Amino acid sequence: MNRPAAKGWCPSVLRPMKSGDGLLVRIKPNYGLLNANQLLVLADCLDDFGNGLLDVTSRTNLQIRGVKEQGYSDLVLKLQTEGLVGVSEKLDRLNVIVPPFIQKNSLTWRCASQIYSSVESLPFLPEKFGFCVDCEESCYLSDNSGDLFIEGNSGSGLVLRCTGLKEGLFTSEKTLIDDVKKIIGWYLEKQNVEENGRPMRMREFVSQNKFPWKTSKKLKKPLLREVMVGRYPSHFILAAPFGQLKSEHLRKLAAVNKKVQFTINRMLIVESLPGKDHGLIDEPQDNRLKMHVCPGAPHCSSATIKTRHLAESLAHQKEFIIGRKVHISGCTKGCASPNSKDICIVGNEGSFDIVEKGYAWDKPVVRCSSQTSVFEHLREAGS
Ligand code: SF4
Repeated sequence: MNRPAAKGWCPSVLRPMKSGDGLLVRIKPNYGLLNANQLLVLADCLDDFGNGLLDVTSRTNLQIRGVKEQGYSDLVLKLQTEGLVGVSEKLDRLNVIVPPFIQKNSLTWRCASQIYSSVESLPFLPEKFGFCVDCEESCYLSDNSGDLFIEGNSGSGLVLRCTGLKEGLFTSEKTLIDDVKKIIGWYLEKQNVEENGRPMRMREFVSQNKFPWKTSKKLKKPLLREVMVGRYPSHFILAAPFGQLKSEHLRKLAAVNKKVQFTINRMLIVESLPGKDHGLIDEPQDNRLKMHVCPGAPHCSSATIKTRHLAESLAHQKEFIIGRKVHISGCTKGCASPNSKDICIVGNEGSFDIVEKGYAWDKPVVRCSSQTSVFEHLREAGS
């Protein structure tokens, strides 16, 4: 079965998306960083304008859900006052991902800063278009979903690489923005975007169009690193349970940290833990890390099951998920993961379809009418 078309568009603060429980407002913190005051303001925004929950996305964005139309403009004003939204439409829709542990004034920081400060001189980018800026010796973002990668080349300057390609355009800090414009111009003009308005994503585009610039040297392979939840000598890497934080989590984090970096894989990097009962995932063995769960009902209008409720129950049934990757999806769109999983539990008019070794949109092996029968099926299938 093919993946169903995604609903809605890529939201931002100035272009919120209608969802099952109101508007969905997506915040894109610069460098993934929020200071303690911004965390507190965001916590208040969740309680005053949203449903008290914050989605942390795998592309380091933060989403307030359940915003009522009548409170929306006050929310925007509050976010603008605290620097949590870009001051222009181009900045608001700009997607930039940086690696974890970014250091102020590092090469990656400086390149990302150039993108932020030059955005007004770039053409209007498709709303899903994303930059991945990852210029240090060790890279974290090579597998991340992005369109244009700005990478280092082991001490020999910078490389601009379109996703899906092994070759790239050599550049430098001085020529970076001019070369970014060259590639974006080629990408947009070839597709006559002004006319059709919906360009292909870069991966598809470069599979059909030859990259017109030659690279003079062979690219050096970066050292790929992974980010893992855990306790480290100088910091902690935490994860939001099923990718959602409560307003109280933000307040607790703000009480003991000057800043927090939201990073890839829905994780957060902090210097201090807010006491024992912080409610966040801080152990790499936590079963919830193996589960991909979309917001489900009542947060999304396409959902017919309470995905989070099922996920919490399942996380305690260790025998069902040992060694298995699980995807719980409110419908067949499979927003929480585009990848194949050992088990997908998918909402279907209030019932639970179970797909084994496949995608949320694949044909199910069985339909269960209740959560209890889901557990019974998993028990039998695992024995
Ligand atoms: S997969 Fe989940 S979040 Fe996506 S449309 Fe379906 S119910 Fe909504």
